Amino acid sequence: MKLALIGFGQAGGKIVDQFVEYDERQGTDIVRAAVAVNTAKADLMGLEHIPENNRVLIGQSRVKGHGVGADNELGAEIAEEDIDEVQGAIDSIPVHEVDAFLVVAGLGGGTGSGGSPVLAKHLKRIYTEPVYGLGILPGSDEGGIYTLNAARSFQTFVREVDNLLVFDNDAWRKTGESVSSGYEEINEEIVRRFGILFGAGEIEEGGEVAESVVDSSEIINTLSGGGVSTVGYASEEVEAPSNNGGGGILSRLKGDDDDDELDSAHTTNRITSLVRKAALGRLTLPCEIDGAERALLVMAGPPQHLNRKGIERGRKWLEEQTGSMEVRGGDYPVRGSGFVASVILLSGVTNVPRIKELQQVAIEAQDNIDEIREESEDNLNDLIQDDDDELESLF
Ligand code: GDP
Repeated sequence: MKLALIGFGQAGGKIVDQFVEYDERQGTDIVRAAVAVNTAKADLMGLEHIPENNRVLIGQSRVKGHGVGADNELGAEIAEEDIDEVQGAIDSIPVHEVDAFLVVAGLGGGTGSGGSPVLAKHLKRIYTEPVYGLGILPGSDEGGIYTLNAARSFQTFVREVDNLLVFDNDAWRKTGESVSSGYEEINEEIVRRFGILFGAGEIEEGGEVAESVVDSSEIINTLSGGGVSTVGYASEEVEAPSNNGGGGILSRLKGDDDDDELDSAHTTNRITSLVRKAALGRLTLPCEIDGAERALLVMAGPPQHLNRKGIERGRKWLEEQTGSMEVRGGDYPVRGSGFVASVILLSGVTNVPRIKELQQVAIEAQDNIDEIREESEDNLNDLIQDDDDELESLF
């Protein structure tokens, strides 16, 4: 499906930037427009793939391009004051050509954390297209203020969007590694998962697998109803497709029907095991899959390695595991790919330990708010100092 991507803050901008690169490299044609919004000039200058005209610096009169540190209340105020500047960039998007907006932000910082819910609310007031959020939760080693920001931003963001897709940095941190040193890999993981999910709805029906290709309305229906979503992924390498399409003429001449059946059983088994691995492996937001309200299974790969029976079995298994009556499934044929991959979108998940923890933090924070504010101010001063150094080295 076609998306208008808006990255708010540093993490949001970097992820959208990488999404644009993925889209161009893979030829998936998902990104109809990409915009980055930030209060920090240096962050906008560091982007590589988002067109310069689509980079919006807000809050210049308040923070002079230095960012807001981890002050997400200031981030939210600035977003409200300067929403017209953001709208100015969105005005250049042919909105009638997009299926949805996706607002991407790290929820632990200041600009994206405070600004993304403000933008989502604004977009929903103006446009009829669905507005989805992709919220990144901070690592637990980042400190109290980040957790508190995420707890508060999460509560607002989930209310303002049509669905909040979540990625938890904490669950993806490698042991012995701080989150920041692993961002590159983490961002690739994010872009791969969401790229396959949204790319699936962009394939035109036709050719060999016409019956069961996922279309954008299935993605939209799975996300409708709101709440929080998580995405699972698993892949397996397969032989590069041969030119005569597998068995082809030779096996038919030899009357090799048994081989075909064996192949098809193998294909089905591979699909069902990839579905299990994706659902039971590491999700973007770890949770119990039991109780998910809706799910969508996308099987991506070369058409000859996809079959309806496998997808149907995978879909049924997901129905049993989630207890949901609304599990959709289909394929995403990618000719010439050397992998078969399963992507599972679980929407309306309820049993999420990390979210419960954040809610608890938000409640407890009321008691020691002064301490946290102090930490935030120190943080802001450090950041302004860092930013000054960074800007000086740039000019
Ligand atoms: P902002 O610019 O004020 O919105 O704040 P940042 O986006 O820099 O940081 C917000 C949070 O996003 C941090 O606490 C990190 O958890 C996370 N973060 C920052 N950069 C990245 C990134 O490149 N990838 C990912 N996955 N998370 C990031």
